[in-house]
Amino acid sequence: MDAQEFRRLGYQLVDWIADYREGLERLPVMSQVQPGEVRAAFPDHPPQHGGRMDQALAALERDVLPGITHWNHPSFFAYFPSNTSYSSILGDLAASGIGAQGMSWQTSPAATEVEEVVMDWLRQMVGLSPAFTGVIHDTASTATFTALLCAREKISGFSQNEGGLQTRAMGSAHGSRGGQRGDAERAEASGRSPLSGSGGEAPLVVYASDQGHSSIEKAALLAGFGRSFLRLIPTDDDHAIRLDLLTAAIEKDLEIGLRPCALVAAVGTTGTTALDPVAAMADLAEKHGLWFHVDAALAGTAMVLPECRWMWAGVERADSLVFNPHKWMGVGFDLSAYYVRDPQHLIRVMSTNPSYLRTAQDGQVSNFRDWHIQLGRRFRALKLWFYLMDVGVEGLQTRLRRDLVNAQWFRELIDAAPGWERLAPVPLQTISIRHIQPGLDEAGLATHNLEIARRINEGGKAYLTPSMLKGRQMLRVSIGAETTERRHVEALWALLNEAAK
Ligand code: PLP
Repeated sequence: MDAQEFRRLGYQLVDWIADYREGLERLPVMSQVQPGEVRAAFPDHPPQHGGRMDQALAALERDVLPGITHWNHPSFFAYFPSNTSYSSILGDLAASGIGAQGMSWQTSPAATEVEEVVMDWLRQMVGLSPAFTGVIHDTASTATFTALLCAREKISGFSQNEGGLQTRAMGSAHGSRGGQRGDAERAEASGRSPLSGSGGEAPLVVYASDQGHSSIEKAALLAGFGRSFLRLIPTDDDHAIRLDLLTAAIEKDLEIGLRPCALVAAVGTTGTTALDPVAAMADLAEKHGLWFHVDAALAGTAMVLPECRWMWAGVERADSLVFNPHKWMGVGFDLSAYYVRDPQHLIRVMSTNPSYLRTAQDGQVSNFRDWHIQLGRRFRALKLWFYLMDVGVEGLQTRLRRDLVNAQWFRELIDAAPGWERLAPVPLQTISIRHIQPGLDEAGLATHNLEIARRINEGGKAYLTPSMLKGRQMLRVSIGAETTERRHVEALWALLNEAAK
């Protein structure tokens, strides 16, 4: 493809995207295709000859689009919103057009420095102090995994970064050969303490609530803590972590000789946007020397509103925190904001330093390859920059407030309507509800509510998520697509009542 052809197809594609967005409301929100249907529209073998881009664009509309669930549809109420604004699309296009890989400052200085600028803007926007430094990660899952690796290395004195899980085996192998030092001995000599299972030290323990996102469990397992040393603490009636039980769990672990290592607070749980008590958890973390990580994947965006910041009061005492501009904000997937208090610790955990990656500027600049797991990195900062230039802080605040008002309006409807039950407070934009059909037991209610969700989702006029909350089947209504206005929430209410009949 030459530049002329790129222009021709590019303008065509931009028009196609704008038409798609303008016509979204007429499409079924959840894709209605059957498994295998999209695949069947494609040839079994790759094209031998090129020059078929016109065919590809036609197939995009004909064969691909039916297999899309439309996350930017105004009646998307499922999961959490994942908005991709027009300006963010343009930012991604610019990033792809430039095609830079910003692993090191030198490999494209602007990729690093624009990211430093916009991550600092974002920090200010959510009211965090300059004690935090930000870096873009792909997802909150990766950021939380990184946080737990940092916790593990801090508390274990970098033992996993040295011998890792192999130390015990090496220790005994060395021992059997005689004369060589075991892990504990080496640890003592180096002034560090080895991780459990690698040198006889007590196991490290991670704490979070039983409403925490599954990415915490995944991170704890991948970081080698082991399921037996992950404590998912029960929550109260508002679905926030029970401090009394958290305190008791930490104390019990200490009593039996385990080493509490990391505490994860959820600000806005996935199920119900419940708010863990951050300040009190920070106290506990401080008292017991735990790494304190805050997962505010959705709720972080709300902190652009000063009136919401009470929800994470105490966050300043976190060691690390993550939130997702790729959720409610408007910056297209994927862009997670990871903030840390001690970038040097992060770099120590994440960096390797092979000769082919060294540059003359090392030491004077940030090389973001050392701030996360992967080496290569796209110029994601562009889409955040374009987005902020487009909407401005005030524009974003206005939209977020619209969604919060719509959520409270919907909550009031539910509270007043006979037959509907609300299962959780509504601090943000997600409402957790179920329909009560008289005479049905818990299993019957589950079937009834699943049927409501099925009817609505398969009907294509709106999309919501059925989910379980402490043994009860609920329907999650998560408001916050960029184009969702009151009339869309009203239409959902009508659909819910129709489906519940
Ligand atoms: N944490 C919370 C509270 C979430 O709700 C989610 C996803 O919805 C995640 C983490 C994981 O997000 P990501 O897809 O960015 O890994």
